[in-house]
Formats: sequence, C-alpha cells, structure tokens
Amino acid sequence: MVRKPSHHLPWSKLVRLSTVGLTLALATTGCTHANAASQPPTVAPLSYRVLILDPIPFADPEKTPEGEARMFQPIAVTLITGKTDAVLVDPPMTREQTEAVAKWIEGSGKRLRAIVSTHGHGDHWFGTAMLLGRFPDAKAYATAGTIEVMRFHGNPEFRAATWDKGFPRQIPDAPVVSTPAPGNVLELEGNEVRFVEVGHSDTDKSSVIHVPSIGLVVAGDVVYNGYHQYLAESGTRA
Ligand SMILES: [Zn+2]
Repeated sequence: MVRKPSHHLPWSKLVRLSTVGLTLALATTGCTHANAASQPPTVAPLSYRVLILDPIPFADPEKTPEGEARMFQPIAVTLITGKTDAVLVDPPMTREQTEAVAKWIEGSGKRLRAIVSTHGHGDHWFGTAMLLGRFPDAKAYATAGTIEVMRFHGNPEFRAATWDKGFPRQIPDAPVVSTPAPGNVLELEGNEVRFVEVGHSDTDKSSVIHVPSIGLVVAGDVVYNGYHQYLAESGTRA
C-alpha cells in the first residue's frame, strides 16, 4: 500500500530496499537495478512491477469520523516476470479492477503462468477465476491455510453480508480455484517463487511471497504503507 496511488511503475523504478535482507514490493521512487550477475547462466533473471489500484467508495452511507465517504484502501498487485513468463501476486476484488489488471498483464507481453494469493481476504483473490478465464495458461495457488480463509470469505452468505454489501454488483463470481503448490514453491524460469507462511497478519493463515534470486518479498497485508492496518480480526494475542 502506498499513500499516493501511482500506476505502472516502469522497469527502471525497480527498487532494492536492502542489499542483505529482504526486498519488499512497495511502490517507492528509489532506483537501483537488481544485480543479475550472480545468477547461474541457466536461470533467467527475474524482475517485477507493481500496479496500485485507486481507492473505491463503499456503497453504504456510513461516514468516517471526519464525515467523509468511506473508501476501500488502494490495492497493490505485483507481476513477477522472466524472459517470457510471469506470475501474478494478489489479484484484486472487483470486476473493473480485475479488468484493469488483465490489461496490465497483457501489456507486459508476458505469458501468465500462475496467480498466487498471499492471504484469504477477498481483495487479494476474488478476481482469480475471472483472470483464469482470460489467461488459460495460468493456474492459481495459495497455501492450504489461506485456501481455508478464502472459503470463509467466498461463502455466499458471508460474502453477501460483507463484501457484496460494500460493493454491490461489482465483485465477479469467485469460486475458490486456488490449490496448494507442492512444497509451497513454484518455479519461474529456473527461479524459486516461495510461499512463506507467517501466521496472523491482518487475517489468519497469511503468507508472503519470497523470490530469493532477486531478493524480493511481496508482503501482501503483512506490510501496510501510509494506511491504517485492518485490525478488526486482531485477537488478544495480536
Ligand atoms: Zn488483508
């Protein structure tokens, strides 16, 4: 999440936040290129880009304490790319948002091979089935724990009382189509794309996506930037 939505971070804006630790897929304006010199020759160097979708209004008339219309926070979607193929992290929520992401993927010129979700909140996976219809070479993945949470949020009664109440007729049909990847690892052109389970973040059974070869962590909702974290599911142990 970032404070000011900005679209289509160019490849030249790839940022390495730490040279020794993890790199977070946050949209910042720093600029250094990932060092591909250490890659074995058979492994294609990867890159990534982040699309930030603008906040959208809730349909209900409830206001913020300041008397303003309530808005759903910006949504960050990440595309990890190799020479020809790509992995999408965290498809968005509404039909319109998902259509924008589909066009963004097509504009990358890469073949989408996988759609992965970091956790089970609908704004990180409701667009998955719609994207699979558009990109038939792709499969959807999440951890077994995240899939449990997806089923909870995708349950018709719960969805109607929460997600569809906030955004009526905006969210596509969203059957749970993700499956666990063997060992929670995918491969993208010789590079590992790893689910790392982190327990409760802004919901239970969350994960982050780690791509060791480029020091990338796509942090999902483990990290918020410039927005108040969603704490409604926090228990006494949080
Ligand atoms: Zn979340």
